[in-house]
Amino acid sequence: MIIVMNAGASENQIAHIREKLEEWGFGIHFSQGVERTIIGAIGQKRSGVMESIEAMDGVERVVPILQPFKLASREFKNKTSEVKVGEVVFGGEELILIAGPCAVENEAQMHETAYAVKKAGAKMLRGGAFKPRTSPYAFQGLEVEGLKILRKVSNAAQIPFVTEVVNPMEVELVAEYADVLQVGARNMQNFILLKEIGRVNKPVILKRGLAATIEEWLMAAEYILNEGNYQVILCERGIRTYETATRNTLDLSAVPLVQRMSHLPIIVDPSHGTGKRHLVGPLSRAAIAVGADGLMIEVHPDPESALSDGPQSLNLPGFESLMREIAPIVQAIGRKL
Ligand code: PEP
Ligand code: MN
Repeated sequence: MIIVMNAGASENQIAHIREKLEEWGFGIHFSQGVERTIIGAIGQKRSGVMESIEAMDGVERVVPILQPFKLASREFKNKTSEVKVGEVVFGGEELILIAGPCAVENEAQMHETAYAVKKAGAKMLRGGAFKPRTSPYAFQGLEVEGLKILRKVSNAAQIPFVTEVVNPMEVELVAEYADVLQVGARNMQNFILLKEIGRVNKPVILKRGLAATIEEWLMAAEYILNEGNYQVILCERGIRTYETATRNTLDLSAVPLVQRMSHLPIIVDPSHGTGKRHLVGPLSRAAIAVGADGLMIEVHPDPESALSDGPQSLNLPGFESLMREIAPIVQAIGRKL
């Protein structure tokens, strides 16, 4: 439930409510608005509790959260959350472009990519160091060596980076290097991983699972929020359908749907969403038009020789032309690049 305090509620009144909620076994989450404090109380429904709280001093009203995802819901917070990574803000006016290769392969590749995508307008670099590959025989990533390359290149080019973490035991390690953690589609329901990520103070991009409903996806976000990490950015990356002409079916309806159901910012990955280079441009334009807060695009200096996902990767001039291609749409919907 949500407890909306009066504009003039005192610290003592708030402390009293916190004490009672703790006594009743609720998890407590504060949201400080400009005028008033809102308390999210998460726990099992028990009769009479809402009425008791409503009668307490300083309480304006108590509202039940009907959705199963509580902290992620619009009911809990009606305004889109801004997730900040230094000066980069997800969920604000600016449309954020994240670009880089599927996997970190070597320093030269990352160096060339970082400078080029930044020059073209990307605000964040991507690159996988731990790769969750479908085949155990495929390139698995450079692991810690990859994290070191990312950090070095990111510092030199002055662009923050996101990288995936696949192992709950390595969350702290990856968080030492990365500006943003990524949970990949295959790990969206790795609840132990989600809880660990919820305990670090790092923004996280949570990709939608290959066969996850929107509700399951928001419940996954709830795992992270419930541990106290509120810096969650959702990423639609396509779902599995009967269609085989594309790698996945990019569900763009998820963007406005999620925005109606949740306050979390949402970005779109048309690279994994389609698996085809020639579809990345059109689907990028569409994603912006439906209101995505950003895009994640796979870019490689030489896609033909990429160790993973070459067919869906843009080359560097390709990314530059994508930036030109999306500019009028960004402007038309009143956002900035
Ligand atoms: C990725 O972004 O590197 C990736 C593996 O994507 P997904 O988890 O969406 O398949
Ligand atoms: Mn990839």
